[in-house]
Amino acid sequence: MSVEEQVIENARQGKLLTHKCADCRYLHLSTAYYCRQCGSEDFEDVLVDGKGTVATYTIITVAPAGFEKYTPYAFVIMKLDGVDLRISGFMEGIATPDDLPVGTPAKITGFDERGILIQRQ
Ligand SMILES: [Zn+2]
Repeated sequence: MSVEEQVIENARQGKLLTHKCADCRYLHLSTAYYCRQCGSEDFEDVLVDGKGTVATYTIITVAPAGFEKYTPYAFVIMKLDGVDLRISGFMEGIATPDDLPVGTPAKITGFDERGILIQRQ
């Protein structure tokens, strides 16, 4: 399975595939190819729980071609609990900032053509 397929499979189970540096243990997203801290290219796959809090987001009211059926939705940056990582994903049904206060607990719930899907916990 490719890294992307593993990311999709794990997202469907509410998990996030990450890369932990085999040398200094620094944790990265699975898109990392070398360690940001020590430069090593040696990683171990580590699954972390896809739960966290909403750090910031952008509401998409004018979607790219082919994605109109999803509007309104939000492109969300979520800070994961317990690790120093942020991921981006998409949350349905967000039309105004009142719909989603920053700090709202959220979790990974799946994956579609847009990318990782996030919902409130
Ligand atoms: Zn390292």
